[in-house]
Amino acid sequence: MNILLLGAPGSGKGTASEQLIDKNGFTQLSTGDLYRAEISNKTELGLKAIEYMNAGKYVPDEITIGMVAKFLETKSTNLLFDGFPRTLVQAQELDKLLAAKGTKLDVVLHFKCDESVLLERLSNRIICPKCKKSYHKVNIRPKVEWICDTDGTELVVRPDDAPEKIKIRLEEYNTLTAPLIKIYNNKMVELDVTNVTPKKLYEDVVKGLKL
Ligand code: AMP
Repeated sequence: MNILLLGAPGSGKGTASEQLIDKNGFTQLSTGDLYRAEISNKTELGLKAIEYMNAGKYVPDEITIGMVAKFLETKSTNLLFDGFPRTLVQAQELDKLLAAKGTKLDVVLHFKCDESVLLERLSNRIICPKCKKSYHKVNIRPKVEWICDTDGTELVVRPDDAPEKIKIRLEEYNTLTAPLIKIYNNKMVELDVTNVTPKKLYEDVVKGLKL
């Protein structure tokens, strides 16, 4: 089964993915993570993406679609799409890419969340650059300050979680990604994730996916 996690930045897509990978054997395709890896490896692709990312803007469609097409050459089933597609063009291209592999997007989980909660979560988010686990400075703290519980790596604040970038990212989401909600209406499961703990989020996801 291929699943799209559709929701604004900070809505819990990454947190749900962590658990679905660990407990249900899915593979995550997070275009944000792929770009961050390209940037840290200082590749040509990373150099193209970094300016857009650091400005809080979307990377142009053709660049992102090319990166996803390459990923799908290695695996095209049991995927969790996290952060892709984010535009109508990306959605159309994904349909074509999956059809060429004889597969499709089966379910879209829509993570609905109040914007005030998104702002609060993103401005308190710290992440592990190695395993991608995310924490909250106040509510979901690591056992040792600024150290990842899982692998002992020093935690960081994402450059695009700066307050002025958060605002731009939410605008990009509302303008370019929210229209996807309509086109996926027939395969959509709605989840209200405004006031949920990671544990409850996972329970809701499992129920929504009938796993
Ligand atoms: P994320 O980790 O999903 O929040 O993505 C971080 C940043 O990577 C976004 O703000 C964009 O700059 C870029 N990015 C990730 N996925 C996409 C996408 N599907 N289309 C365009 N830009 C993307």
